[in-house]
Amino acid sequence: MSVPEFSGAGTTIGGKNSRKNTDVLSLDYCTFRIPCEELRVKFKNGQKDLDKAAANVARAAELLTKKTSGANQPVPQETLRKNFDFLLNQVQEARKALENILEGEIGETSKIIQRCERLHEEFEVDEKTHPRQQDKMERQKFARYICWHLLRCGMIEPARELAKQMNLESLIDISVFEKIYEVEQALHAHDTKPCIEWCQYHQSRLRQIKSRMEVVARQQEIITLIEQGNIPEAVAYVKKYLVPIAKANFSDDLRKTMGAIAMPLVESRVRNPDFHDEKRYEKCAEFFIKEAYRLYQIPDVSALSVIVQMGLSAQKTPICEPDHKTPLSEQTCVVCRPDVWPLAEGLPYAHVDNARILCSFNGTVCNDDENIPYLFPSGHVIGLQAINTLKRDDNKIWDPIMKKEIEETEILRLYFM
Ligand SMILES: [Zn+2]
Repeated sequence: MSVPEFSGAGTTIGGKNSRKNTDVLSLDYCTFRIPCEELRVKFKNGQKDLDKAAANVARAAELLTKKTSGANQPVPQETLRKNFDFLLNQVQEARKALENILEGEIGETSKIIQRCERLHEEFEVDEKTHPRQQDKMERQKFARYICWHLLRCGMIEPARELAKQMNLESLIDISVFEKIYEVEQALHAHDTKPCIEWCQYHQSRLRQIKSRMEVVARQQEIITLIEQGNIPEAVAYVKKYLVPIAKANFSDDLRKTMGAIAMPLVESRVRNPDFHDEKRYEKCAEFFIKEAYRLYQIPDVSALSVIVQMGLSAQKTPICEPDHKTPLSEQTCVVCRPDVWPLAEGLPYAHVDNARILCSFNGTVCNDDENIPYLFPSGHVIGLQAINTLKRDDNKIWDPIMKKEIEETEILRLYFM
């Protein structure tokens, strides 16, 4: 049995139709993942709305039937009209709900189709494409990565401006990040309401990924009540909101919360320092961002960050270190720039198969034929071409680095491996 040829589709690098090295489809994960999730949540919530509307219609119809069936006296026209109007109203409401749901779902689907087309356009670019078009497509792609990154940093307005200028509005889900940012800011301001609303909107998916988000947000409210000494209200809140969501899967959270209510505040502070932490809302906001990204399956690191790291790592050598002495405009290694170094510090070194040796004197490439490299006592490598110009009488060579004459025997021939 022969092994079928690997199609290449589904690889991280562009797939089998890719024409360029820069076609890295996996970097565009959130371009498609977010509208897919939006479509899913609209479908799920739409189904719930439809069920509700259908139940209302059925109830109205039942009311009308009750009025008419089995009546042995004429039913007043006014009563019938009232009931009939109610039924009609419910049917119209149901219809409106259906239209809204469909509109939302079609919107998300066409977004996905549009994005496929835009990305396909980028994939069509090859060396035969007009350079201006090539440039445009590359710019579009990188602007998209920068835009995603800005959104993740909470810079909503700059991202919106960039998207507008580069005509990327249909490719970026600004509203999704805007919502996430709003909820995060509200949590920083000790307001859990937007977070709880967000949790309820995404309820089905959060349940599926076993997220504790709503439990954590509700806990903040309860702790506030405990800290205020308002125990009856805290108990009522637990009963009403926490028990239904935590009973089945988060019993530990429920137990801990009940414990905090039952014991004196001083003791609870000692036993559950996390609960009463001054920075608990900040931690909750951090947790929210994590859970929101998990829900949309947005990678932990942005595409821009991946690209920058890849580029830096490709340039990084074992001798790289922050160079504070050379002015920025004169620095030759991007990794050694003090402003870039913090990004490069933890990255691996480049694996360079075709390393080149440059002559320290005139910058020419050294090779085994016309420009053999020699190691000078100063530690610098100088090519044969330069050495011929540095030759002095009596087998001496002028060392341009140490600024003195040295013996020919002092320099060592280098070999390429
Ligand atoms: Zn360097």
